[in-house]
Amino acid sequence: MHIIARRAATGIGSPVLTSLCTSRLTGTRRLYTMADSDHTVFNKPKVELHVHLDGAIRVQTILDVAKRRGITLPTDTEEELTQKIALEKPSTLTAFLEKFNEYMHVVAGDREAIKRIAYEFVEDKAKEGVIYVEVRYSPHFLANTQVEPIPWNQTEGNLSPDEVVHLVNEGLSEGERAFNIKARSILCCMRHMPSWSMDVVELCKKYRHEGVVAIDLAGDESLNCLANPGHRRAYEEAERCGIHRTVHAGEVGPASVVKEAVEVLKAERIGHGYRTLEDEGLYRKLLAQNMHFEVCPVSSKLTGACDPDFTKHPIITFMKDKANYSLNTDDPLILNSNLHLDYSTVHRYMGFTEEEFKRLNICSAESCFLPDEEKKELLDRLYEAYGMMTSTAF
Ligand SMILES: [Zn+2]
Repeated sequence: MHIIARRAATGIGSPVLTSLCTSRLTGTRRLYTMADSDHTVFNKPKVELHVHLDGAIRVQTILDVAKRRGITLPTDTEEELTQKIALEKPSTLTAFLEKFNEYMHVVAGDREAIKRIAYEFVEDKAKEGVIYVEVRYSPHFLANTQVEPIPWNQTEGNLSPDEVVHLVNEGLSEGERAFNIKARSILCCMRHMPSWSMDVVELCKKYRHEGVVAIDLAGDESLNCLANPGHRRAYEEAERCGIHRTVHAGEVGPASVVKEAVEVLKAERIGHGYRTLEDEGLYRKLLAQNMHFEVCPVSSKLTGACDPDFTKHPIITFMKDKANYSLNTDDPLILNSNLHLDYSTVHRYMGFTEEEFKRLNICSAESCFLPDEEKKELLDRLYEAYGMMTSTAF
């Protein structure tokens, strides 16, 4: 993947971008985030809808928190820890998920760390030119009490999933004020833990006026909802209460998982959804419904979800069909990536144009989970930035 990243950058012919990506490759994350928009493929405001908070932590923060808490890591340098966490080449979703074991025990259960990662996340997104982001996470994975089983081999403490959501909300809203962008959150159910899902929807309801906009279902797609009715019940409750719904589906799982997400879980957006294309009838139906696909180009290669040859990527079909989709990072910590890399990748290998970048960002804003009035404000900001304002003076 690193070789691909370097090629993607050099292909654009920008020496600055090349050096920035080289900095990224050596793990000095702070340097590339200084990449200023002048040197990016799409130097305009962007919307991101699919990124995991616990997959978007700064390596330096993991090191700092480990030191403060007296947790021993295999290395204490940013460069070496980056190499340890990052997926090096196209792999499997299982190998990808194992990467979380490298560092989640450091931040889980720690109030200061959780608030800090949320705050820093907003800063990183602002530096990428994102003006609106929806960030997702499992509150249970960051807790150490009122969660069964307690994750990451933690001993029981006193940080509940409920307080995790409160802390993330605080970090995000402080970040919003400091960096002048808008950040909302999505709470994830995990496919292998159906017993957590009703808790998740209750947290969505409790915090819906403090920045939580939707529910998600993530994890192993082979665990369907027929066998795990806890998810279906949670999504029914979400629909009943007007909580927005997205579902990871058709990433590595077959088109039938997408079908289930839409028909059973009443998903309004699909996380990834690449394998929808294997069911022509379903794909045409979802196109006609204007279903939104949250696509993650760099992620889809490294997790093994898609053919590593980007020129054969399903996103090309979405683009040609003028589908409703967004471009997203998914887990930039584990992919050692950033949003610029996703944009430069589709530009370099899939022929994406400035016009398509504008169109997909407008689709993203239209499909975001903000209330209508705020959505309109976001769209107006994009129209203005993209030079698409129409005069309403007369
Ligand atoms: Zn995801």
